[in-house]
Amino acid sequence: MIAKPSEERLLIALQKKGRLADDSFALLKACGLRFAIRGGGLLARVKNMPVDLLLVRDDDIPSFVSNDAADIGIVGENVLVEEQLTGELDAQIAMRLGFSRCRLCLAAPERGTVQSADDLSSTRIATTYPGVTRRFLSERGIDAKLVEMKGAVELAPSIGVAESICDLVSSGATLEANGLAAFETILESEAVLIRSTRALPAAKADLLDKLLRRIEGVTTSSGSKYIMLNAPKAEVDAISALLPGSDAPTVMPLAGRDDMVAVQAVCTETVFWETLEDLKALGARAILVLPIEKLMS
Ligand code: ATP
Ligand code: ZN
Repeated sequence: MIAKPSEERLLIALQKKGRLADDSFALLKACGLRFAIRGGGLLARVKNMPVDLLLVRDDDIPSFVSNDAADIGIVGENVLVEEQLTGELDAQIAMRLGFSRCRLCLAAPERGTVQSADDLSSTRIATTYPGVTRRFLSERGIDAKLVEMKGAVELAPSIGVAESICDLVSSGATLEANGLAAFETILESEAVLIRSTRALPAAKADLLDKLLRRIEGVTTSSGSKYIMLNAPKAEVDAISALLPGSDAPTVMPLAGRDDMVAVQAVCTETVFWETLEDLKALGARAILVLPIEKLMS
């Protein structure tokens, strides 16, 4: 039995198994939620917070959130947009999560009749995303026939069901293995946290705010570094300007050195070797780049 969301415990719908599942679990664990996922269970209880996890197929997540079977959910933007376009749905993006990135692409056999979107008129396109594909076609004023499939779309051209396909692509290896080449991206997707437009009970709304702040802390800190270095006093401005994505570094005196200071800063953008070499060229010494585990601004 699926329990209806209670007044107190926030119910989060997650993919049980698949390309979203592990990263979704890892994100929540990084946010401090303690839970264990066991084999067949539909529900997992978070031990240290009033939160429960509803473990389902990704396709069901938007409608569960829309119909109040869950308070929030984590799902691919591709699935959310498709469901928004093909049905009445009260579910929207509360936060982008940055993982499970992929593209919904049109693709066709490498030397076939369809080589670009201009060739699609009066052809057949196989897809599991009829909503998003239809939207693209109508925006471009293209009159093509959709062949809706449940899976294995990449086989459609070789079995003569369609001249092209519209499918998810991440590395492109599956397309290549089937002799297909992508010629148009119609949607860029990543995992998103979704919620309905309805207000949550106060306790759950507070909990959701806390969770969103923690997710922000985890996602920003994953690319961030803490830089410590010693620098000639005269070069502090030039050195600060080189530190990627940091504002107002801390500058401190160094014992017994009038000409040098210690500089410390949080860098929210990637610190490349080139940056370190440029810092060194300006006289920076003892440069340390440290990972940041959590960040709350
Ligand atoms: P379920 O059993 O839950 O219905 P599924 O087979 O529909 O799973 P997965 O293949 O696990 O789904 O993909 C889940 C989501 O992961 C996709 O909807 C998409 O947002 C994302 N994703 C990332 N990379 C890829 C990829 N290369 N192919 C397909 N989906 C990808
Ligand atoms: Zn699915």
